[in-house]
Amino acid sequence: MTRHQKARALLAGKFNRSEEAWRKYLPTLDQLSRQMRSRAISHRGFDNGTVSLAWGWHRDPVIVGGANHKPHKGERRHRAGDYCGEMESIWAARRMHCSEIIGMVVTCPHQPDEVSGRDFGVTVSCYYCRIEFRVERRKSKSPLKGHTRLRFNHPTDRSLYLNITVDKFLAMFPNDPPWVLKRGGT
Ligand SMILES: [Zn+2]
Repeated sequence: MTRHQKARALLAGKFNRSEEAWRKYLPTLDQLSRQMRSRAISHRGFDNGTVSLAWGWHRDPVIVGGANHKPHKGERRHRAGDYCGEMESIWAARRMHCSEIIGMVVTCPHQPDEVSGRDFGVTVSCYYCRIEFRVERRKSKSPLKGHTRLRFNHPTDRSLYLNITVDKFLAMFPNDPPWVLKRGGT
């Protein structure tokens, strides 16, 4: 077996292990993501519960959670006290030295995307999250990979969800402006 073939076999093995772990833990992640909403702090009741499944430094699956924090009305103080569940979950994975986030389950109230106006039937990661995802994708050692799975849940209708990978998700928003501070933001 050549070095190239070995690398491909290793990658394929890792993908299969990730897929297996994702399928095994998805019902647990789904439930935890809904529970994590009670940890959210939002002035308008927009509670986002996010739970990630990651490969830990010891090569076993690790579950890390997050919830959003936006206690006040008006402009978002992004990275200065205000954040989304997705961000907290990525930061937790990094603090725990996880090598890779296999997938992330996000549950929050339904609303169309605030910047593009697109409605997916479920709420998808917001503009600020997309900035963070893009920043992470530029870091070679980020636990957030292009193939990291995203699952967006409707909070009450369990038949409504969207499964997509990070890179495919970001590709759906080619017109995201480089930075937006929305007047009276949510
Ligand atoms: Zn967000």
